[in-house]
Amino acid sequence: SQRCPKCGTIDKENRLNREHAFFCKNCAYKSNDDRVAAINIQQLGTEWISGTERPCYTKVEIN
Ligand SMILES: [Zn+2]
Repeated sequence: SQRCPKCGTIDKENRLNREHAFFCKNCAYKSNDDRVAAINIQQLGTEWISGTERPCYTKVEIN
């Protein structure tokens, strides 16, 4: 994922592919990139359940 689950910033440079790490330049949030992807997907699901017709803020990437 390229989206920061903490502040919502989307930046492909947030992701350090080689290290499988995610680092947000905006808020300095740091985590494993697979974990970040899981959090983002969970947030999409939560929006869907709460009635948002088309929850969408970024492409969901599954590697
Ligand atoms: Zn952030």
